[in-house]
Amino acid sequence: MIELTTVAELRAHLDAARARGRSVGFVPTMGYLHEGHASLVRAAARDADDVVVSIFVNPLQFAPHEDLDAYPRDLDRDRQLAADAGATVLFVPGVEEMYPEPVATTVSVAGVSAPLEGESRPTHFAGVATVVAKLFNIVGPCRAYFGEKDFQQVAVVRRMAADLSFPVEVVAEPTVREDDGLAMSSRNAYLDDAHRTAAPALHRALAAGAEAIAGGSSPDEARAAMHAVLAAEPLAEVDYLDVVDPTSLESLQSFEAHRGRAVRLVGAARIGQPRLIDNIGATVPAAAD
Ligand code: AMP
Repeated sequence: MIELTTVAELRAHLDAARARGRSVGFVPTMGYLHEGHASLVRAAARDADDVVVSIFVNPLQFAPHEDLDAYPRDLDRDRQLAADAGATVLFVPGVEEMYPEPVATTVSVAGVSAPLEGESRPTHFAGVATVVAKLFNIVGPCRAYFGEKDFQQVAVVRRMAADLSFPVEVVAEPTVREDDGLAMSSRNAYLDDAHRTAAPALHRALAAGAEAIAGGSSPDEARAAMHAVLAAEPLAEVDYLDVVDPTSLESLQSFEAHRGRAVRLVGAARIGQPRLIDNIGATVPAAAD
């Protein structure tokens, strides 16, 4: 695995690789890598000859009161994990390299950016879409791998890539979880013991909602089932729990148009210091005939 820090070096390296007929897989991350990131790198390594992992904690997607300065970092561990999972190029640009001047041009994706995370973090997805657009332009034609863990982010990136004709195929991979159901996240490092024990309640709440849907519940009943589980965990402070259309991310009031189809259960909760997000899929039972 080689390590590059400048846009020019990465472009030159990947242009030469593609000229030799090599395909490129790309896994953008903010570092502090874990098994969830590794699964994306392995998926990319299965499909592509060269696998680029970028590590860049993007200031643009953090609001002033969020955890930009405290975001966990461990580049030595990240190098090892990325190489072991099959990365051939580690791209670690500094903030100066990515944003040599204050950004005047941003990318905002209407619709899918608005609900859920968009309501809680109004500037977040413009920051994500802008840095992913830059990274797609830097990396060039590739397949890019994202985790379903950030379900709304995948929808935003897919929509941006389609609307702006990026030569990038966006691939989503399933969420990797700890044994007790907690979705792996760099932010889990902020959990102390008591909050770590409480944290799987978010996944349990989503699972209860999915079970309710499988049993014939309405969207409101599924939301109530999720809230009941999180209400029983005093260390969890719910931000939202919802049942949404998996494409538009619109909150569902009725399942009539979704009989026999997939819906998504999504949630966010503050558990001690970190705000954690998670989601799972469910299928609405077909109408009995
Ligand atoms: P991050 O470093 O948090 O920006 O995440 C980089 C990529 O890894 C994103 O596409 C995330 O959705 C993905 N990712 C983070 N956690 C997980 C997980 N537990 N399972 C699968 N993918 C994940």
